[in-house]
Amino acid sequence: MKKMKKIVSLALTAVLAFGVLTACGSKSSSKDTLVMATNATFPPYESVSNDKIVGIDVDIANAIAKKLGKKLEIKDVSFDSIIAGVQQGKYDFGMAGITVTEDRKKNVDFTDPYAKAVQSVIVKEDSTIQSVDDITKDNKIGVQQGTTGDIYASDDYGEDAVIKYNDGPTAVQALISGKVDCVIIDSEPAKAYVAANQGLKILDSAYADEEYAICVKKGSDLKGDINDALKELKKDGTIDKIIAKYIKE
Ligand code: GLN
Repeated sequence: MKKMKKIVSLALTAVLAFGVLTACGSKSSSKDTLVMATNATFPPYESVSNDKIVGIDVDIANAIAKKLGKKLEIKDVSFDSIIAGVQQGKYDFGMAGITVTEDRKKNVDFTDPYAKAVQSVIVKEDSTIQSVDDITKDNKIGVQQGTTGDIYASDDYGEDAVIKYNDGPTAVQALISGKVDCVIIDSEPAKAYVAANQGLKILDSAYADEEYAICVKKGSDLKGDINDALKELKKDGTIDKIIAKYIKE
């Protein structure tokens, strides 16, 4: 009888352990929270306002999460650690005005694009640089580390000409204090930085055209789920409405 009890309790322990294991297993494959990595120094896509991360990407990510029946958790990290973190599975997806490039596609998968953008050049109003063609390898060009502005400028003018900063606002401060001659950065944040600082302007000629998309781990099912949600949100006008809320033409 005693032995029987022991067997029963052993069996029970096994069942419980199995139950716990399978519960954990199913939790990680269908967890109810999506973790998004971003860099909140990039208005109007993401910035910090009253201790909260707000912007176009945040609103679109929330709309996607809602469609997928999940909660959204946002991690604010440095821009150049987002793709590596997604690749390692630290975050479910990266959304930070991330431009789709062939090189990045080697490391992560991109969803369908949700916005178009251009790389702009910010200069001081009285700068000798008055068009993109005036920039030479003898200039000091400020960029945000790891962005397409950094990658293209380093290709076009050489690493020596390019000064890399942790974020856009720091690059713009360097322009104001005369440490760099121009800043190459995405057009919408460029407009926000110029509006917030006197004596700066954006050159009329754009430096490069690009598209933003969400990145996920290579081979992840999440890409299809996000694309389905994006399709619906584009069709019912939600994406346009969110963008129009932040970008007034
Ligand atoms: N669109 C640029 C890139 O992907 C910059 C994005 C950013 O700074 N958040 O490199």
